[in-house]
Amino acid sequence: MLSLNNFVSFAPGVGNKNAKKLHSLGIQTIENLLYYFPFRYEDFSEQKKIIDIRPGETVTIRGKITEIKNPPTRGRRHITEVYIEDETASVKAVWFNFMMPLKFLNKGKYVQFSGKVSLFRGRELYFQHPNFELISKSVYQESAQKDQKLNSFTGSTSGLVPVYSENSKVNSYFLRKIIQTTLKKTASQEFIPKKFLQEQNLPEIQEALKNIHFPENSEKSALAKKRFAFEKMFLIQIQSLKIKQKCENNSALPIDFDKKITQHFVSSLPFKLTNAQKKTSWQIIKDLEKKIPMNRLLEGDVGSGKTIVAVMAILSALNKGFQVAILAPTEVLAFQHYLEITNFLKKYKFKIGLLTGSQSKIGERKTTKAKFSTKIKRGEVSLIIGTHSIIQEKIQFKNLALVIIDEQHRFGVKQRAFLQQNAMKIKTESGKNLPHLLTMTATPIPRTLSLALFGSLDLSIIDEYPKGKKEIITKIISPEKRACVYGFIENQVKKGEQVFIVCPLVEESSNFSTVKSAIEEHKNLQKNVFPSLKIGLLHGKMKPKEKEFVMNAFKNKKNDILVSTSVIEVGIDIPNATTIVIEGAERFGLAQLHQFRGRVGRSKKQSYCFLFTSESASESTFRLRTMEKTNNGFGIAEADLKLRGPGQFLGTLQSGSPDIIMESLSDIKLIQSARVYAQSLLKYDPNLKNFSLLKNRSASLTKQIHFE
Ligand code: ADP
Ligand code: MG
Repeated sequence: MLSLNNFVSFAPGVGNKNAKKLHSLGIQTIENLLYYFPFRYEDFSEQKKIIDIRPGETVTIRGKITEIKNPPTRGRRHITEVYIEDETASVKAVWFNFMMPLKFLNKGKYVQFSGKVSLFRGRELYFQHPNFELISKSVYQESAQKDQKLNSFTGSTSGLVPVYSENSKVNSYFLRKIIQTTLKKTASQEFIPKKFLQEQNLPEIQEALKNIHFPENSEKSALAKKRFAFEKMFLIQIQSLKIKQKCENNSALPIDFDKKITQHFVSSLPFKLTNAQKKTSWQIIKDLEKKIPMNRLLEGDVGSGKTIVAVMAILSALNKGFQVAILAPTEVLAFQHYLEITNFLKKYKFKIGLLTGSQSKIGERKTTKAKFSTKIKRGEVSLIIGTHSIIQEKIQFKNLALVIIDEQHRFGVKQRAFLQQNAMKIKTESGKNLPHLLTMTATPIPRTLSLALFGSLDLSIIDEYPKGKKEIITKIISPEKRACVYGFIENQVKKGEQVFIVCPLVEESSNFSTVKSAIEEHKNLQKNVFPSLKIGLLHGKMKPKEKEFVMNAFKNKKNDILVSTSVIEVGIDIPNATTIVIEGAERFGLAQLHQFRGRVGRSKKQSYCFLFTSESASESTFRLRTMEKTNNGFGIAEADLKLRGPGQFLGTLQSGSPDIIMESLSDIKLIQSARVYAQSLLKYDPNLKNFSLLKNRSASLTKQIHFE
């Protein structure tokens, strides 16, 4: 028998050569293989050979196109006939006054028809207006052998066959084969206390693994998914509670609160703090006074004023002679913080340094990185603002007491894991003390969900906006209405205001075509729409220097419009920009749209957000209505939670890859109960002495978890 932690090369029929191929999918061990879940199932129960179809039934068939006819007819009626055949028989599909199939279907191609079987003159079977989908030859061939496969894959009469995500080296067919044999040869031991599973009516691991790959029916696969969702949440909870334990076992440098200097600072601000700002900064100040390290998440919508809350904590620490580090996700943002915070603190004469991948300077003066490091080690720089290079360059501090991670949700997945684990361990000369850690995020997550998700963190929420902040007027714009908005934009520019235009596609870092679409849109707008306006361009493939140049130019009103990819999402502050257009808005999640929208509405002037959609009315437009109705990020998050369940929040927080387990997590109760079980178990056995399997599992999860 195999066990889950064996290498995948031990799996029957795999060997070294195939193991290498599997590595390309991230599969190293038997566990990885069996946890490589299908992303959907093919339902062969409805699929038939052409010879088996009967009039009146609704079925799916597949075949090769043998002929396409477009016979002339009397009157204005158009008929399209497409004939297909499989290895048993042939049949035709008929469309009236519908030209689409002609565009897509060609003789010799393979196609799938789904629909109702009709009878012509009591003799000939045909499909009238079936749904059609082109398929590849290999998919056709696979389904041609389905009978044989059904038996070998499910061992039952069911039609559910798993479909896995493939790459050029490994296909679904191969995965099915090896997963099936491996399942039979592997003894998977249960590591969640059985009592917990029974109380939740969830299957044990062996059964769940079988049913997630080869379910007898969709109920069984749903239960298996639920079990794995519970499993993942339970492990996350165990893990985060343990981090909390560990954290609380460490010591930190206590930072005494200096009432006088704080009061003085607050009274010198050009505005009054909101109640939420007062409350959260007080929570932070109280934590800083403790001898155990703070580990707190400050959650506040874009524009809710998190920076000033952080600055009060920074002031406390610097005032007592400690060092502070601030990490921002991009160079642009680090630089902006550097200017802003330097300005806030200018009368205190602290030494403030900027350290990013491309530059390092202290005060106004540029230095080399080596010199910079020495100065930090000697304590000659007190506040270091930069990107993750602060951690990467293994800089040693003299007495670092506080680390702040800003816009934590915008760090890449890997960076985040690295940061969270290392920010707490940054080396200081002052010995074993860990710095206090303040993480800030503008992803508004519903409170219930935050509590369940960020188990190891204490939570401070800014749920109120500074006074005088005007609501941003938001409108969904269908393709026909574009011209109106362009006219509106010209007017805004005439008034001296500026405009962002964000181009679609979500994944900035990986997708080159995003950049292309921004470049093309920039060209198009300049040439065809706004020939007399000055239009800038910003995208993620630019060098940091170029980006900074573009941002500065825009800030200094050298451009009227800035076309950009989603790099713009990160907290850029240009109060004179009052209009934002988001192209292909339906492709973005509500939370992300809300982030974009936060780029405007930063001054007293009325701001506008136009959501351009590519279809006039659809389901996605319905979803976008929430954006029109509310400006409050927490309200939007609640709406998104109701519309799409908690899975999406986990998706954005965790890895970027689609995960059927997380997507199917539609139930916040499951997360909450996972937490309660984890708490009760750790209370009873804090070191999991009696649960070594569970202990190993949760430890190996550390590598995967990105948010704690
Ligand atoms: P975020 O939470 O998105 O980081 P910022 O801290 O950048 O928000 O604040 C957004 C803007 O609001 C800044 O220009 C800041 O100076 C201003 N601001 C912050 N707090 C207040 C307040 N209490 N009253 C008025 N303006 C404020
Ligand atoms: Mg901010």
